Amino acid sequence: MDLSFILNELGENREDYFNAISPPIIQTSNFRIRKVDELRGLFEDEYSGYLYSRGLNPTVDILRQKLAALDGAEDALAFNSGAAAIFASVLANVQAGDHIVSVEKPYTWARRMFDNILPRFHVKTTYVDGTDVDNFADAILPNTRLIYLESPNSWNYALQDLAAVAELAKEHDIVTICDNSYCSPVYQRPIELGIDMSLQSATKYISGHSDTVAGVLSGSSAMMKKIFDSEYNNIGSGIQPFNAWLLLRGLRTLPLRLERSSRSTLDVVNYLKDHPKVEKVLFPFDVTFPQYELARRQMSGACGLLSFYVHAGSRQEIVRFCESLQHILMAVSWGGYESLIIPGCASLSNEEFNANNPDHRIIRLYVGLEEPEYLIRDLEKGFGAM
Ligand SMILES: *Cc1c(COP(=O)(O)O)cnc(C)c1O
Repeated sequence: MDLSFILNELGENREDYFNAISPPIIQTSNFRIRKVDELRGLFEDEYSGYLYSRGLNPTVDILRQKLAALDGAEDALAFNSGAAAIFASVLANVQAGDHIVSVEKPYTWARRMFDNILPRFHVKTTYVDGTDVDNFADAILPNTRLIYLESPNSWNYALQDLAAVAELAKEHDIVTICDNSYCSPVYQRPIELGIDMSLQSATKYISGHSDTVAGVLSGSSAMMKKIFDSEYNNIGSGIQPFNAWLLLRGLRTLPLRLERSSRSTLDVVNYLKDHPKVEKVLFPFDVTFPQYELARRQMSGACGLLSFYVHAGSRQEIVRFCESLQHILMAVSWGGYESLIIPGCASLSNEEFNANNPDHRIIRLYVGLEEPEYLIRDLEKGFGAM
């Protein structure tokens, strides 16, 4: 399916709504049903039609069709956050006594679910270094039900060989989930590589304007229905119509924004690599990246997120760098217009800082849509203040 068709036409039946070019926001909580038997049908299977907007909603459905097509999946669900997509997809596939193998250092709220919530229901998680497929094979137990992946990781960009892990999981009848927030489905399609479910924080690239929190989960029709009938409706974590509409608007410019950000990122990476204050740059599409070949094989693009280690003898130097930037904003998240920065040392006190530990000197940068020269001038200013 052509990308342009997905973004501009798929799911949009304009004749149903006055031929409006922009899709409608069906801002309603419930739907009128004319026949008792129709109502009975919806009570039996809420996935079959419009009853109540915690379940299905027409604006959300336009979005879901596009998201599924982008992922090359049969079906997709849209959530009110990426964290909700993570929670529902995992919870739907485990029960007491089950075991999960997760890639090490997954997204914070995935890790907190594995560490704090699931153990209360006797579900245990083993973390493995995902850069070697054998580590997954070694961690699989007879009760392993789920393998949880995030490729690339959103701080150090460690990758997993998605096709190889998918094959291993299939041999053991294990469900696989991949957090694809870094690439978005424009640059990586885990389902086409054999992964069962792909998820992403739509807060990042799909929204694209730093104005919505949302999440996407895609996979087989049977799996999406299973999750809709249970966790999706029970947790009440579905996206609201207005937010779905914001994502529809964001989707129209998604490829263009990714292209711009990718180009500027290369300029910024090249600038940083040559800077005397920078020890090393981490970016999956840079030839010096340890898993560069795998990145080229399974991703069709890398985008605005990169990290770099600065030479700094104290935490104060990094603080001065960050606080003297005028255009690049200090904030979590990414994917909007604005370039953003987070220093790893934000989770350390001055006393805890150890200059010999590179992880204390790491800085994550999101390269947004500004002119690259404008950003480089700002970084230069930051380095000057160190
Ligand atoms: C932001 C993020 C999430 C969570 O998404 P929210 O929309 O913030 O709930 C999950 N995974 C990764 C890699 C993220 O960056």
